Amino acid sequence: SKWWDHVCPAPKDPITSVTEAFLADTSPHKINLGVGAYRDDEGKPVVLQCVRDAETKIAGSDFLESVSSAVSSRLVEESVKLVYGRDSDVIKEERFAGVQALSGTGACRLFAEFQKRSHPESRIYMPDPTWSNHHNIWSDAKVPERTFHYYNSDSKGLNFAALMDDVKNAPDGSFFLLHPCAHNPTGVDPNEEQWREISYLFKVKNHFPFFDMAYQGFASGDLDRDALSIRIFLEDGHLLACAQSFAKNMGLYGHRVGCLSILCNDKKQAIAVRSQLQNIARAMYSSPPVHGILLVSTILSDPNMKALWTKEVKAMANRIRTIRTTLKGSLEQLGSSLNWEHITNQAGMFCLSGLTPEQVDRLAREFHVYMTLDGRISMAGVTTGNVSYLADAVHEVTK
Ligand code: PLP
Repeated sequence: SKWWDHVCPAPKDPITSVTEAFLADTSPHKINLGVGAYRDDEGKPVVLQCVRDAETKIAGSDFLESVSSAVSSRLVEESVKLVYGRDSDVIKEERFAGVQALSGTGACRLFAEFQKRSHPESRIYMPDPTWSNHHNIWSDAKVPERTFHYYNSDSKGLNFAALMDDVKNAPDGSFFLLHPCAHNPTGVDPNEEQWREISYLFKVKNHFPFFDMAYQGFASGDLDRDALSIRIFLEDGHLLACAQSFAKNMGLYGHRVGCLSILCNDKKQAIAVRSQLQNIARAMYSSPPVHGILLVSTILSDPNMKALWTKEVKAMANRIRTIRTTLKGSLEQLGSSLNWEHITNQAGMFCLSGLTPEQVDRLAREFHVYMTLDGRISMAGVTTGNVSYLADAVHEVTK
């Protein structure tokens, strides 16, 4: 029968292709710089100690229906404190619609759907470049996309003037997607003063900011400091929305734990918005699994476990910062005539290296070093053990 004869293979995700090529390589020197998840200095995935402690604490828990909804509310309560601040007025006044989501991706998808339903004619402005899945998510929700200037490939930093122009020239009341910290894939974030200017201009233009927070803690090592952009927008009285993921900063990638919160004018509006979000989720997947949520809410609501988590986040961020310095130093020691300042100026898990697609291709073919064609290095894949091999290879292809 012919039911699926017309179905062609879908285009491959750029990161999946990198992983496949890496796995197929048999060289002992091979390095995977495509991975989006944290790795320790041995190149291994990490289970945080706070997560192990929480696993012990929740062992044997009842997963009854009533328990699930209580756990889910606790997750939302604790998550929003991380982004808006423990003493924030929006939390005290219950002016937010918060729901548990299937990690950061699920939170973005829920928001995109809600955007389409509540503002059917709206578009989404995304930074150029952005995480590749953002395009798929809003496109699946049938929200047309525009981009705004973000990265300057000459300076390998922020193109602030062009960004501000695009914010100014977008029609009043547009939706914008912003990365609050540790921008993926560039590692380039606005500084505090620039965030204040962006927030001010958003106010003037009545734009709506949607923050996709996938790496809280990974930029500076400090959870509050990494939420500074959002706190600035809060101070300026914006309504905003935020997607949160615990995939990276708690190492819970496979558990799909996340949260979507949308700020509202008052509690009544928040109840209405929340009911719409629950409606969308209900038809798509009903509710997310409860085990990971139980882990996160246990950690966040126990002061000792939360303190341990905070310390472990700092240690992960510090390892990445240190390895950035080592990589830059090694390239300089090899006598590279290129400027590698951006390796340490950029922050978070990723470094947009400036390597061309041809150089990336040579790195894979001749040196068994794998990364996406845009030249994005996942710094988590760089370790004390492979950094000098990597520097040699990069130096060789950029001579
Ligand atoms: N948003 C950004 C910017 C990301 O880089 C990622 C992961 O790579 C996500 C969201 C989603 O991550 P997850 O769905 O695993 O939480």
